[in-house]
Amino acid sequence: MGPMTDFASIETYQAIWLVALVFVNHILIYLYRLYTERQKDVKKIYGLTPSERQLKAEFRNGLMTTPVHSLIILLFLVSGLLKVTSEDIGTIVLTFFVVFWWTEFWHYISHRAMHLKVFLSIHREHHRSHITNPWSAVSFSLLEKTIFSLGIVSFAALYSHYFSFSFHGFCAYYTFYFATNILGHSNIEFRSARYPFSLMGYIINSPSYHAMHHARYVKNYGLITSVFDRLFNTRWEDSDGVLIRAAEGKPLKKLSEKP
Ligand SMILES: [Zn+2]
Ligand SMILES: [Zn+2]
Repeated sequence: MGPMTDFASIETYQAIWLVALVFVNHILIYLYRLYTERQKDVKKIYGLTPSERQLKAEFRNGLMTTPVHSLIILLFLVSGLLKVTSEDIGTIVLTFFVVFWWTEFWHYISHRAMHLKVFLSIHREHHRSHITNPWSAVSFSLLEKTIFSLGIVSFAALYSHYFSFSFHGFCAYYTFYFATNILGHSNIEFRSARYPFSLMGYIINSPSYHAMHHARYVKNYGLITSVFDRLFNTRWEDSDGVLIRAAEGKPLKKLSEKP
């Protein structure tokens, strides 16, 4: 049983998860669009619309990059680098949260690195979308998606050799990340104007937060939380202001506008 050859060791539930992870982005985007198209009163963050050309490019990028996560997880599983040791509820929940916080950290440092001149070419494709929409959530260069996922799965593999590790918890995290990432690129604010003043609002971002990263290009590097942006002073001071404007139904009219 040499490395990279043990495909027979893949359990049925793991195969189902891996196939699901390839398509879950597309399904969620479709459902999200179906839902928002029926809503009359959506709260736009930027009152601008992306071009048809942008949407087509994002869709193309999405087709190319969405299988990357599953392929990397599969390679780590069959090579024995990722060890699945337990599927009890405690391990599922713990795995989810450990991977959540690692990914917050990994995303922050790798994202900031990709904004350095030397690595910018890797990240440029994602920033072609100045005004985001759900398809921007899957619009990356193949290299960026690979680096991002390798960082998550490598950490998970290392962790799984020392602590009990759940495949369900791991894939549940990926699904959660896909769903929140679509919201983060939707250019629609679903939080209320009071959200920034709550404890949750202090920690967990809302769609306005990442919309500002695309509109202004720098700062607000965080994924789901703003913890590392606060820690390293890379959070836009007017992040709350943009959220409140959107929540009050007064979207910003220009990319450069500040509330
Ligand atoms: Zn960026
Ligand atoms: Zn983005």
